[in-house]
Amino acid sequence: MEKSGQHYLSMLCHISELSEVTSDGTGIDLMAHTNILGELSIERELKVDGTGLSQREFPFLVQSTFPSEEEQFRIYRRLFFEAGGSAVVIRTFDLAGNTIFPVTDHHVEAKSQPGLRSTRYPLKEKNIFDQQIRAILRAAAGHDKCAILFPLISSVNEFRRARHHVNECLSELSGQHIPHNRNPLTGAMIELSSTAGLVDEIAEEVDFAFIGISDLVRYMLINDRGNEQIEEYYQPFHPSVLRVLKKIAEAYISRNKIISVCGEQVHERDYLRFLLGTGFRNFSADPRFMPAMRRHIGDCQIAEAQCFADALLRQKTVADVHTEINDYLQLEYPPELSHGSCPAFGSK
Ligand code: PEP
Ligand code: MG
Repeated sequence: MEKSGQHYLSMLCHISELSEVTSDGTGIDLMAHTNILGELSIERELKVDGTGLSQREFPFLVQSTFPSEEEQFRIYRRLFFEAGGSAVVIRTFDLAGNTIFPVTDHHVEAKSQPGLRSTRYPLKEKNIFDQQIRAILRAAAGHDKCAILFPLISSVNEFRRARHHVNECLSELSGQHIPHNRNPLTGAMIELSSTAGLVDEIAEEVDFAFIGISDLVRYMLINDRGNEQIEEYYQPFHPSVLRVLKKIAEAYISRNKIISVCGEQVHERDYLRFLLGTGFRNFSADPRFMPAMRRHIGDCQIAEAQCFADALLRQKTVADVHTEINDYLQLEYPPELSHGSCPAFGSK
């Protein structure tokens, strides 16, 4: 069987009946983040399209030693079982100060600080990475829709190194005749300005990608998480951020690859409208935001969202963007249907 993003796209698209639909009939995929296994039942109730960005470090935080491959396997196995046929995207450990294991040799800095965090940490600690990847691959045996996502990727090379570990684990498991998933998708989180500057190169390399809006905004504008003194610099509507998002959408649309957006802004009406207008069709968010997101999507007309997005992209300052948003509420935009859109995990 061919292993390409496109091949998986068609498989992941078999869940279209659960897609949200805009007022003009465009299918949108919503995935729910899970932090604890208990939330899976909420996802089922919400009828979302899959489990996005599963943050598997959470269940392990209650213990005092680093989880073994077996312990991780048991957790992931349950995750895949509970998810049924839905797509499961597992983000590899995004370890930082607030998710540190009590017993580790390395000091992992607070999430707000750059340094030895996210994919950088397991790339240094090969055993930790391999144990997690092996556990995921073993747990996903017999499950079609398994995607492994590397957080905070900073370069093409870093992504390749992470993917190389997956390939090594695949060969090792095959050699040991251990049942496992043979065709996982591998993707990168776009959260740094360095990857924002390599949009096409990263898009070329990955099977799929997730944009982490919160970190992307923070790292583009240098704004610490939780630092109230510089809160005003957290500007998701900064023209530069909006233009980077547009470039990313275009890169994935033109390659027909999956791009999903997650982070603090995706559930907000105006941000979601902008993202829909730039062509994004795949979103991942906390389950509690799903009802509001469904409402916003149902109220949205894509042609209008495109005009809205184009108007915001023409602005030079954050203030101008906000004026434009306020004007939009009063103005009627002429429909314009010339834009493309990227494929979604579950839409046709
Ligand atoms: C983000 O950065 O937007 C994101 C979703 O990741 P995190 O878990 O770091 O918030
Ligand atoms: Mg992040």
